[in-house]
Amino acid sequence: MVDETQQRIDEAFMQKAIFEAQKAAEAGEVPIGAVVVCRGKIISRAHNLTETLHDVTAHAEMQAITAAADSLGGKYLPDCTLYVTVEPCSMCAAALGWAQMGRIVYGTPDEKRGYRRYAPRVLHPKATVTQGVLAEECRQLMQQFFQQRR
Ligand SMILES: [Zn+2]
Repeated sequence: MVDETQQRIDEAFMQKAIFEAQKAAEAGEVPIGAVVVCRGKIISRAHNLTETLHDVTAHAEMQAITAAADSLGGKYLPDCTLYVTVEPCSMCAAALGWAQMGRIVYGTPDEKRGYRRYAPRVLHPKATVTQGVLAEECRQLMQQFFQQRR
């Protein structure tokens, strides 16, 4: 049984992550956005910054983890949920594991670079994962971006 209330909450926060992804697209970045939520409140928002920072590690999740830890004043985030528009890559999934992120919610799967293919066990053992929240919107953002670049 899907908990409808939780589903609606997840969609509302994913919408915020999508908003971040749109900001990334406007800046010429691959449109991936993330927010971290703790006790019902957004404590960090971020999007992919690899072009702006000339840094291949500047994925949305990495920025969001750092900002969330900063905001809470502690490095571990077991009571937090990360919402991200695209399935995290193995680097970000490992970082989420180090941060002990309690829950991960992502939109569209990434068959090529997603962590499930290469590193399915790097998340914290207690972490729960929900996938496919507003997946179509998240996928379309990516598709449009790469079509425009061709
Ligand atoms: Zn990543």
